Amino acid sequence: MTLGELLHYHVIPPLFLLFFTPVVQVLTQLGDPRPLGWSALVGSRFAWAFTAVTLVWAWLFLVLPGPVHHGPTTHFGQTPPYRANGMLYYICTLLLFALLETWLMPGVSVTIYSNMSAILAALNVTALVLCTFLLIRGKVAPQSSEEIEPKPLPHEFYRGMELHPHLLGVDVKQLTNCRVGMMLWQLLVLVFCVAGARLHGLSSGHVVCAALQTVYIAKFFWWETGYFSTLDITLDRAGYYLCWGCMVWVPCFYTYAAFFLTRQRPLLSDGQSAFVLAAGLLAIALNYRCDLEKQRFRESGGRCRLWGRPAEYIDAEYVTAQGRRTTKLLTSGCWGVARHLNYVFEILAAFCWCLPGLGHGVWPFLYVLFLTVLLVHRVFRDEEKCSNKYGKAWKKYCRQVPYRMIPYVF
Ligand code: NDP
Repeated sequence: MTLGELLHYHVIPPLFLLFFTPVVQVLTQLGDPRPLGWSALVGSRFAWAFTAVTLVWAWLFLVLPGPVHHGPTTHFGQTPPYRANGMLYYICTLLLFALLETWLMPGVSVTIYSNMSAILAALNVTALVLCTFLLIRGKVAPQSSEEIEPKPLPHEFYRGMELHPHLLGVDVKQLTNCRVGMMLWQLLVLVFCVAGARLHGLSSGHVVCAALQTVYIAKFFWWETGYFSTLDITLDRAGYYLCWGCMVWVPCFYTYAAFFLTRQRPLLSDGQSAFVLAAGLLAIALNYRCDLEKQRFRESGGRCRLWGRPAEYIDAEYVTAQGRRTTKLLTSGCWGVARHLNYVFEILAAFCWCLPGLGHGVWPFLYVLFLTVLLVHRVFRDEEKCSNKYGKAWKKYCRQVPYRMIPYVF
């Protein structure tokens, strides 16, 4: 590899993102009702208490006795165990929030909303400390015997070192992604909606924005064990991209439309909001349908029916450290229409929950713009992974299903 390639691929993009994402994180807080002060950098007492409670609560549900789900075996023969109590955690967290908001700490949503920049700062510090720890431990005393190619330090910090590290008895990625990131996303969109209602009165647009995200996130927790077979878990390592991303970027940026609408009230009529709700629910259902078809297909070893007919597939082979394995690539149903139709519905759903911000410029749409870039980039990352893994069988699949996301377009 030349010096140019080394800098171009392994140093400049990670350094750019390491600098750029925290700047955007601070910029998105410009709508914060309180002026940005020191607390936006180091947090406040309330923010640290909020962060500590969030982390301990999430950790508790992972160490509680309960059902265990094993994720896919890695190339190096590791089969990671996960705590399969996502829905219990989700329901208990929402009940706790309802109890606090209505009885124990009435108006806590407004307090959280008013402390958002300090909360993000506290999460930021926590996530950076965690990523630094994971980097050092991954280099000095890794928990698995997996060997990975060394890269320049900014790249390793950004990408992470280990695929399935554990900390305090729990899987780090289940803690940061599923439990902290996804739950904060859920909690904050509800917090912003309730705070908006308390401060300015209820608005149907804001409710639709929060309701669509609630359905989407509830679906995530319902299907959490399916998440352990996705790229986040099977491909991405525990580092800045994933752990900082889930602990800071998700609560800050994914919730931004709902945060924005707490101050800038939606301009949609009730009828328009109802239409957006219906369209958003359809997009979420179709996204779920794509994921479910693949999950059912894989679980049944290809012996299932899709769209009224037996599933069609291509047999594929791949090599692991333990030897040759076989699997199947689905070529019918949603996976026969395009190779990543699930991403199209994901983007449409996000567009719908940003739509209540229509008329306020580009700001409420930042998330869906970001998501489109993220998922198009992810298509290429996934195809590179699958092409390396399956070789000829992947080429055959691409010939049979030629479009990546939208038939006849892309
Ligand atoms: P996919 O669910 O599309 O999974 C891709 C993997 O599925 C491939 O690596 C391959 O893995 C397997 N695969 C690909 N094609 C086939 C096929 N034809 N038949 C059988 N298996 C196939 O990707 P993600 O993990 O990225 O997404 C999961 C969900 O999460 C989606 O709903 C997506 O929209 C959502 N998502 C949301 C994001 C957000 O920020 N809001 C970000 C990313 C994803 P294998 O090695 O097992 O063959």
